[in-house]
Amino acid sequence: MGRWKLIAAALLSVLMLSACTQSPTGRNQLMLFSSGQLASLGDTSYAQLKQQQKVNTDPKLNAYVQCITDDLIAVLPAPWRDKEWEVTVFASEEINAFALPGENIGVYTGLLQVTENAHQLAAVIGHEIGHVIADHGNERMSNEVAVGLGLQLGAILAADRMDSNSTALVMAALGVGAQVGVLLPYSRIHESESDQLGMDYMAAAGYNPAEAANLWRNMARAAGSSTPEFLSTHPSPQSRIAAIEAYAPRLQSQYQQALAGRRTPLCSL
Ligand SMILES: [Zn+2]
Repeated sequence: MGRWKLIAAALLSVLMLSACTQSPTGRNQLMLFSSGQLASLGDTSYAQLKQQQKVNTDPKLNAYVQCITDDLIAVLPAPWRDKEWEVTVFASEEINAFALPGENIGVYTGLLQVTENAHQLAAVIGHEIGHVIADHGNERMSNEVAVGLGLQLGAILAADRMDSNSTALVMAALGVGAQVGVLLPYSRIHESESDQLGMDYMAAAGYNPAEAANLWRNMARAAGSSTPEFLSTHPSPQSRIAAIEAYAPRLQSQYQQALAGRRTPLCSL
């Protein structure tokens, strides 16, 4: 190892020591990027997606998706519930959804063919919000940098902005790679953490967390005829369903209580 490499490695390890945080479920995470950097990368990616892809403007459909999103946001922990989340419905047969740092959510009309009710759509949106709140995009980009693969990401870290070469890589790390042709599936750890967080939000908002399992069953069934984009970055529905079914009963009383306490009926189309 050359002298500069040694110095760089030493600097990186100092950086890493100071960059360890804990996820909402208490897992240690390496975070090399600031939340401001992530928000700006997420905003840039979101603006690009909205420019490139067709947006659905049906008022009824948009109101339905917005209604569920609002319900979930209202029960998020501080400071997340006070942030300005935006949701966009994309007109596409893709069975997909995403949430990006900077509090940007995307739902594809194809997904609405797979979700049978508001509970199941809340399961997907809650899961995606979970990825943002647990800072999974930051963790993925940081891990790439730490193992020396994310040279372009390292450049972002230094320059504090996204250059055109790194756009696809950043979008993949943030969970929207399928839209730009780069697949970077979430790890099982991130997936189960987001499933758990999503179900927590569902229960707190009066949506039945047990429906999350049905959602994944529908997703797997839809995979029989085509490959849902969502499944390409969200692998292994079978083990996921088992974990969801083990966790959901713990939330039933909270869900029932929240449902009884709702001042408005559940969102409907
Ligand atoms: Zn996910």
